[in-house]
Amino acid sequence: HADRFGGQLVLVTGAGSGIGRATAVAFAEAGARVVAVDRDAESAARTAELSLLTGAPEAWAEPADVSDEKAMEELARKVAAEYGVVDVLVNNAGIGLGGAFLDTTPEDWKRILDVNLWGVIHGCRLFGRQMAERGQGGHIVNIASAAAFLPSKSLPAYSTSKAAVLMLSECLRAELAGQGIGVSAICPGFVNTNITSTARFAGVDADEEKRLQKKSARLYGLRNYPPEKVADAILRAVVRDEAVVPVTPEARGGRLLSRF
Ligand code: NAD
Repeated sequence: HADRFGGQLVLVTGAGSGIGRATAVAFAEAGARVVAVDRDAESAARTAELSLLTGAPEAWAEPADVSDEKAMEELARKVAAEYGVVDVLVNNAGIGLGGAFLDTTPEDWKRILDVNLWGVIHGCRLFGRQMAERGQGGHIVNIASAAAFLPSKSLPAYSTSKAAVLMLSECLRAELAGQGIGVSAICPGFVNTNITSTARFAGVDADEEKRLQKKSARLYGLRNYPPEKVADAILRAVVRDEAVVPVTPEARGGRLLSRF
């Protein structure tokens, strides 16, 4: 539908790559005004450009690190002042971390929870409040993962961060339902993006980390599930107000993510 989201303001975090970029472009195609947020300024700018080319009446790039409380407060203030209250927030920014629990350091845990959990908390807190105060509803989409409910022996920190995002989404959905604000948790299995080639691995040296990044990129690549199909599921979740949405065969099959 060319303007299903016409006139709506949509903010996507981690919009510079993969699922985030595909989502920004899909909302643009549906007529939304788009705010592309990424800690990488150049890739955020490229996504804003692609959004304009795809049909967004307006699109802006806003570089910000979602784990940075002050930066997120500044972002929320600026977006409200210059572009308006966000109708749809997509908390998508996230990082990968592989490695056994006994190899994972407190610093590893802190890094992944800062981005994957606190990033979502800041987004929900700041933009959710603006939606509630405006009193005209809205929708929050949090990108969790199949890892949130499928345990694996080598993604303990990542899986824990995503399980927390899933539960936060469900609690917030209950809290905000009376105000016409929907909350959806999207749970993809393996999707073909850059996340594997940038993932850190706990307890290994730099050479071993490169090898594991290649190995996981190969595995993810083999699944070949395109981020555009996840973006479709995200738009559908907003339109239908779906609570928890498993995407990809692994997520729906409910099997242990045993290899990773
Ligand atoms: P990606 O690496 O291609 O894209 C992630 C983007 O987020 C990058 O542009 C990166 O710069 C940005 N980012 C990272 N940390 C940030 C921060 N602190 N602040 C702002 N931006 C930041 O990865 P992707 O696969 O598109 O991942 C998007 C989301 O989907 C993540 O939350 C990821 O955990 C989730 N996910 C991915 C898969 C998969 O198989 N690819 C599966 C399930 C869930």
